[in-house]
Amino acid sequence: MKRKSLNSYPLLIFNLRCIIIRKMKLTQKIRIFPSEKQELLLWILSEKCRLLYNFALAERMENWQKNKDLPREKRHYVNYLIQSRALPGFKEKYPEYKWVYSKVLQTILKKLDGNYKSFFALWNKGDKDARPPRFKGKNYFTTLCYNQSGFKLQENSIMFSHKHPSNIILEFELPSHLIPQGTIKQVELIQSDKRWYISLTYDLKVPKYYDNHSYQAFDLGISQTVGVNLSGNSVQFTHRRADLYWKKKIKEVHSKRDHCKKYSNKWYWYHSKLLRMIKKCSYQLKDFQHWLSNQIVSHTKANTIIVGDLKIKQIAQKKKGTGNAKKNRISNTLNHSVHNTGYLSRFTEFLTYKAEKRGKKVIRIDESKTTKACCKCGKLEKRAIFERSITCDCGNRIDRDLNSAINIMIRFLSEKHKFDFLSHESSVNEESFLKQWNGFLRHTDQPVLEAVVHS
Ligand SMILES: [Zn+2]
Repeated sequence: MKRKSLNSYPLLIFNLRCIIIRKMKLTQKIRIFPSEKQELLLWILSEKCRLLYNFALAERMENWQKNKDLPREKRHYVNYLIQSRALPGFKEKYPEYKWVYSKVLQTILKKLDGNYKSFFALWNKGDKDARPPRFKGKNYFTTLCYNQSGFKLQENSIMFSHKHPSNIILEFELPSHLIPQGTIKQVELIQSDKRWYISLTYDLKVPKYYDNHSYQAFDLGISQTVGVNLSGNSVQFTHRRADLYWKKKIKEVHSKRDHCKKYSNKWYWYHSKLLRMIKKCSYQLKDFQHWLSNQIVSHTKANTIIVGDLKIKQIAQKKKGTGNAKKNRISNTLNHSVHNTGYLSRFTEFLTYKAEKRGKKVIRIDESKTTKACCKCGKLEKRAIFERSITCDCGNRIDRDLNSAINIMIRFLSEKHKFDFLSHESSVNEESFLKQWNGFLRHTDQPVLEAVVHS
């Protein structure tokens, strides 16, 4: 049995079927560096948008007060259409709102409409914690959204329209390698943590997915990701744990800060240092996930990638929460170390969109019991989190995550009929896959993986 790293797979040779093209929506966030004057102008424009948002919200709230005691059929709601039609009259009355590009004002109203819609959707579903949109407070930068027009993208700069009397030009330099290839549909100007960004939404032409009878299943973990394919090859990625590197340092600064008098100068100094470190740690984790998902998607021959569905797993974990206190603490610390819940689902998101970009597909399947079950005989057994390799009564000795990956593949093959986009003529099935793996497992006593890829 050969063991191969993903890196050694031959590059995907473009098949004729790849020519079928479809469109995909993507966004790209780029940091910009406005001058002081430009910053001031952006704040002025944003302030107008903020006030418009609040006015429109107030109108809707007043409207609701008038309507709520009336019978349902006599109610007249203010909606997006009514509010956007009133916009020209509003601008005549308050000419300073003309400073903002007209479509930007429209999207503010649309955003409010969207916020209301999602609130009602949650409310009608029975979520009593849902809250209606709220007023935007002072010092809140309202994102300026240019839809379809009002911006001009050049080779290495972008320009935004406005009608402010100061005539300051809103033009920002962009690194040309970051400008996306597709048609730009929408540009947003964003401010967060005193940094400025533009977010470009664009359509990209991507090859259409087709089932090439090659599948790769992955077990996504905190410290490693293990994948298997149908021919019995496996691949293992050891994760770069930026969180472990930063943990000690963050703890140190944290305690130093807490020893200072709260809100003193020194306290603020340590506090900002702490925030910087936490941010850096999360950036590094995110970077690594981008790198790894890119590696996985670009090097696998398979057009179909199977991962465990994390949502189902999390629900199961939540229900278990009341049992063993010590065990809960262990899983909690693990969760905290890489903000587990967000961490793995973000990784799946990265995989999904990167796969789609290349005409591949990521399938999520229920991964419950994939760690407990032995991949060879199927016997269920509870295993502690620190057991890295498992030993079953049937004589099977295997890496814990590899076992899960095989189980995910087995489950996928047995549930393959559920996915109508897969072609079902293929000869691959559960049986043939297991044969491959059993052969592999029988011949080696120590199936600990060798193909480790480091970043
Ligand atoms: Zn077994």
